[in-house]
Amino acid sequence: MARIHVLPDHVANKIAAGEVVERPASVVKELLENSLDAGAKSFRIEVESGGRRLIRIADDGYGMLRDDAMLAFERHATSKLRDVKDLLSIATLGFRGEALPSIASVSRLLLETRAAEETTGTRVEVAGGKMLRSDEVALAPGTTITVRDLFFNVPARKKFLRSEQTELAHIASLVTHYSLAHPDKTFRLASEASELLHVTPVATLRERVFQVFGSGALEELVDLGVCEKQLFLPPPQVAPSEAIAEFRREPDEPSTRLFRLTGFVSRPQVQKANRNSIFIFVNGRLIRDRLLLHALSAAYHNLIPHASFPFALLFLECDYEEVDVNVHPSKTEVRFRHQSFVHDVVRDAIRGRLIESRPAPAFPNAPAPRPAARMPYSEFSQMIENEAAADAELPSAPPPAESEAPNELTSTALDPTAPEFNLRPARGPEPRFDFGDTAISLATQPAPASARLRVPDTHGSFPESATEPSSSLSALSDLRPLGQIHDSFIIAAGRDGLWIIDQHVAHERILFERVLKQRAAGNIEVQRLLMPLVLQLTPQQQIDYARIADELASMGFETEPFGNRTIAVKAAPAAIGPADLEKVLFEVLEIAEGELRGVSLDDLRRAIAASIACRAAIKINMRLDQSKMEWLLRSLASTDCPMSCPHGRPIALQYSMREILKAFHRI
Ligand code: ADP
Ligand code: MG
Repeated sequence: MARIHVLPDHVANKIAAGEVVERPASVVKELLENSLDAGAKSFRIEVESGGRRLIRIADDGYGMLRDDAMLAFERHATSKLRDVKDLLSIATLGFRGEALPSIASVSRLLLETRAAEETTGTRVEVAGGKMLRSDEVALAPGTTITVRDLFFNVPARKKFLRSEQTELAHIASLVTHYSLAHPDKTFRLASEASELLHVTPVATLRERVFQVFGSGALEELVDLGVCEKQLFLPPPQVAPSEAIAEFRREPDEPSTRLFRLTGFVSRPQVQKANRNSIFIFVNGRLIRDRLLLHALSAAYHNLIPHASFPFALLFLECDYEEVDVNVHPSKTEVRFRHQSFVHDVVRDAIRGRLIESRPAPAFPNAPAPRPAARMPYSEFSQMIENEAAADAELPSAPPPAESEAPNELTSTALDPTAPEFNLRPARGPEPRFDFGDTAISLATQPAPASARLRVPDTHGSFPESATEPSSSLSALSDLRPLGQIHDSFIIAAGRDGLWIIDQHVAHERILFERVLKQRAAGNIEVQRLLMPLVLQLTPQQQIDYARIADELASMGFETEPFGNRTIAVKAAPAAIGPADLEKVLFEVLEIAEGELRGVSLDDLRRAIAASIACRAAIKINMRLDQSKMEWLLRSLASTDCPMSCPHGRPIALQYSMREILKAFHRI
C-alpha cells in the first residue's frame, strides 16, 4: 500500500509557494529533514566542493516502497499531508512535497532506498528533472540520496554561489545545529577526506553541547533547564469566518496548552556583534523568527549593551496547532497562534534563569590555558559573515586564496583531530586544599543524579571543568572588601577567590533597580527645587517632550511648559543632584528622539531609570571607606541582576580560587 500520494490542487494551493533550493545548504537541509521525518537514528552526510559537486545523505530510516520511490519526484507528492485540515497541525518537518522534485530538477540525483517491509530496494536516477532509469537492487533498509553537479543546468544560479568554503560553512553550521536538536542520534559530516563532525548518541543536550563545542563553551553558557508554562484557553467560540475558523478550537480540544523551553544561552559577558550565534528550534525545526529573536533581546535588556547579541540555543516545544509553519517555502518562518504569550514565556524564562544563576564573569586572561575547545560555530559564522564581503567579488572569479588553500577550512577549523571534537582523557582525583578553618574541595560538588553528565565510554569522561558549578554572583554578599585600586575598583576576598568590582557601575545597577521599583510602587523620592530650572528646547525636543511628559512625571520630574519651547522643572528625583538635572533631562530627550522612537513604554522607563542611575551613582576616582564598600557589595548582592550595569557593562570580575591555585602551580 503506497504511502506517498500527490496532493489535490485545493490542498497544494494552500501551501506557501516558492523555490527551496537556493544553495547547497538548502539541499542538505531538505534531505536531512526528510531523513529525520523517516525516523532515522543515524545520518551520514558527505560533500565535495562545498556541496556543488556532491551531496550525499545516507540514513537508516524507514525507507520508501518501490512505487513511492518513483512518485516522490512528482510535485506535491508527499506522505505527510492529506487534506487542508492537516496543514493546521503539522508534526513533520516536511509537508510540501516539493523538495525532491525541486532538487532533482537542478542536479543529477540518485535515490537508493529500501523499506523494511520489502526484500529488495530501488534505485532511481533523475537528471535535470528527467527520470533516467529505475531498477530493483539489493540494498540495506534506509535511504541514500546522492546529488551531483548542483545547478549544472542553471548556470545563472551557479554563478551566485559563494566560495566552496562559505558553502561548506553553511552546511557545517546546519548539520551541527540539527545535531544539537537531536542528541540521541548519530551525525557524521565529511567533506572529501576530512570528517568535520562525528557525534554519537548521548542522553542530554548538555552532553551534545559538550561534544560539539567543548567544555570552554559550556563554561560560558547558562543552562535553561526545563521552563514550562501553561496557557489557559478561553471557551471555544463559533467562528464567523474561514480565517478565524482556521484557528477555531473544537469543543473537545483541551483548554490548556503547554509551552516548554529548554536550551542554553550565554552569560552576559559573551557578546556577539550579530545574530549569527542564535539558533532557535520550534518543535524540532530550525527557524528564524522575529518574535522569538525579539523575546531573546528583551531577556538581555539592560544586561548586555545595546546592539550586541548573545549566543543562544533555544528549543521551544508546543502543540502543533499553536504554530503555523506553512508561512514560507523554506519553512524557516513560523507564525504563532498566541504571539504575545509565546514572546513573554521565552523572555521571562531566559531572563529568570539569567537572574537566578547570576553568572560571574571570569578574568578575561586566565593564566592557565583552558583545555576549552575552539567553537566550530564561531568559525562557521565567521565564514558566513564573510559572505557579505565576498559579495563584492565577481562570482565568476573566485578569490585566489580559494584555489591556493582549498582545504584551509577543513584543515584548521574543522579538522576532526582539532580539540573541538576530541574529549580530554579522564583526570585523577582533585587535590584538597586546607584554608585555615575551611577545607575547600576543588572537586565538583556531586550534582543531583538527574543533572549528572553521562558520556559513552569511547569518548572518555568529561573534564571536570564541564561539571564544575559556574561561579555565581550570589557570592557577593559574603565578600570582604580589602580596599580600592585607583579609588575606582573595589578589591574583595571571598571563599571562592578574588573579586574586582567597578564601584560606579555597581552603584548604577543598585540605583537603576531601586528607581524602577519605586516607580512601580508609585513612591519615587522627589525633591523640590528652590528655583525652577528653565530649559530651552529645540523643536524636535519639544515634540519628544510632549510625547514623554507623562512618563517623566511618573518618574518624579515635575515639569510644565513655560512659554515658547521652554519648560520649567520644579521637582526631580531625589537621587539626582541639581548640577546633573539638566544633563539627565537632555539625555532622556535624546533617547526618546533616537533609538526609542516607536518602542515600548517599558523601554522608555528603563532608559530614564538608567540615565538617572548613571548620573546619581558614585563616580570612579572616589575614595570609599570600609563601611561604604561593604554597603555597596551587600546592596549589589541583593539586586536582581548584579552581572551587568544597565548599559550592559560587567560589574564584577572573579579570579577563581582554582585559577589562583593554577597560576601558583599548586594544582
Ligand atoms: P515532503 O518532505 O514535503 O513530503 P519531499 O519532496 O521532501 O516532500 O519528499 C517526498 C516524499 O518522499 C516524502 O513525503 C517521503 O514520503 C519520501 N521521502 C523523502 N525522503 C525520504 C527518506 N530519506 N526516507 C523515507 N522517505 C523519504
Ligand atoms: Mg521534505
